[in-house]
Amino acid sequence: MSDKQYDLVVIGGGPGGYVAAIRAAQLGMKTACVEGRGALGGTCLNVGCIPSKALLQSSEKYADAARHFAGHGIKVEGLALDVAAMMARKDEVVKGLTKGIEMLFKKNKVDYVKGWGSIPAAGSVKVKLADGGEETLSAKNILIATGSESTPLPGVETDEKQVVTSTGALALDKVPGQMVVIGAGVIGLEMGSVWSRLGAEVTVVEFLDRILPGMDGDIAKQTQRILGKQGLKFKLGTKVTGAKNGKGGVTLALEPAKGGEAEELKTDVVLVAIGRRPFTEGLGLKELGVAMDNRGVIQVDENFKTSVDGIYAIGDCVPGPMLAHKAEEDGVVAVERMTGQKSHIDYNLVPGVVYTWPEVAGVGKTEEQLKEAGIDYKVGKFSFMANSRARAVGDTDGVVKVLADKRTDKVLGVHIVGPLAGDILAECVTIMEFGGSAEDIARTCHSHPSMGEAVKEAALAADGRAIHS
Ligand code: FAD
Ligand code: NAD
Repeated sequence: MSDKQYDLVVIGGGPGGYVAAIRAAQLGMKTACVEGRGALGGTCLNVGCIPSKALLQSSEKYADAARHFAGHGIKVEGLALDVAAMMARKDEVVKGLTKGIEMLFKKNKVDYVKGWGSIPAAGSVKVKLADGGEETLSAKNILIATGSESTPLPGVETDEKQVVTSTGALALDKVPGQMVVIGAGVIGLEMGSVWSRLGAEVTVVEFLDRILPGMDGDIAKQTQRILGKQGLKFKLGTKVTGAKNGKGGVTLALEPAKGGEAEELKTDVVLVAIGRRPFTEGLGLKELGVAMDNRGVIQVDENFKTSVDGIYAIGDCVPGPMLAHKAEEDGVVAVERMTGQKSHIDYNLVPGVVYTWPEVAGVGKTEEQLKEAGIDYKVGKFSFMANSRARAVGDTDGVVKVLADKRTDKVLGVHIVGPLAGDILAECVTIMEFGGSAEDIARTCHSHPSMGEAVKEAALAADGRAIHS
């Protein structure tokens, strides 16, 4: 016999799950959210987006004081780092936000069930309660939002001290002398930037011959050049085949990705950041017959329904980019469709932002994708060097690149490396949601002086009429 009856039980309290639970409650569904980690907010709030951005901000302030204040005529003497205080601030930020979600659950009357959930059968969620014991929830619908975990690298065992995943990299108790980051993706560049700014000598080892795969190649190249100037070293086209931990640090075995002579690289700390994989352990999905691909990604239809009636899935454990805002949109659309609404999400228009400084941001098609699809396009570029706000602030590294259809002028992609790239990309996402053209951006009045003017100028440049370059 089930103890409690719900319209919806969400398993996982990350940005996918908690947002879905709140939206479901708003729509009148009696909803529970089961979360095992002891705090709401998932990977994102606890060990992902938020703590990494807190440390990015703190480390940037330190690097500014160490490297850039003098250029503004500000002298700093006795600059010192207190890593423990920096970590404590980060933990406070996380705590405040996770507690905030508990308040939102109370306000919206979502039951927060603390414990690990499994699905013995459709219509039923069994919870191993954090306080001991078990509870079975009866559910008309079950939404799996159990997220993802760091992908392990064979031959490189993590101990979260010397060889860390992003979780360990967010909690080091001192600045390592040297750090090797395996993977020049988003986590590698963000966490590599944090520790490099704080004084570590950081080398990023990447299997491919480029950084940030998936982002526009030209922008990625410029990003590598800018981060290189800041002190990050890159070893591209290189694979790590093993790691040996010792008292004096870690010795990594490297090989050229295309084959060739092996070499060793000694370092104090290694960060493994080669991607993430769905986390669905302990749910009982195989026994239920929920279809997954060979990487454990749950297969869903356009309504987020799995192969088993009454069981849905969203976020990092289903196909698509592993991003918090994508998980949130999945969650909202999934529950709205359960109630018969015709909500939608355009996966071509999910923005991606890398919070290095300068930031890297992109939406829509990259130039490589347009070439491959044989689409005739035009390019408009504008450098932040010619943007007056960037000059005044002293942040002139970077460029905006607008890709538009050659015939119709419709914006097909916007890619930026530059100051506040993530924020200024938002207008481009909106324009693209409305099927807008480069001319639409170019004719929109942008405040002066602002970084956003670089977007307007890049849109003008797509038609060969930029004013300031
Ligand atoms: P998750 O956030 O992973 O949440 C799933 C939750 O389910 C977890 O809390 C887990 O404990 C719980 N759970 C799992 N199994 C069970 C079970 N059986 N019972 C009960 N609970 C269970 N994305 C961005 O968009 N922007 C960023 O800046 C960004 N930065 C990141 C930085 C780092 C270091 C990392 C690792 C990730 C970052 N991401 C970022 C990615 C982002 O965190 C994820 O895309 C997002 O959290 C996915 O949301 P989700 O709800 O699908 O899963
Ligand atoms: P990623 O997919 O962004 O990058 C992984 C990198 O590792 C790739 O460049 C890949 O080529 C490389 N790689 C893979 N195997 C390798 C090997 N054996 N040796 C060397 N390099 C190897 O993955 P990530 O950086 O681990 O991030 C995981 C997920 O978290 C991503 O999907 C990302 O979207 C999300 N995330 C997002 C943000 C953000 O939005 N700002 C921040 C952090 C993480």
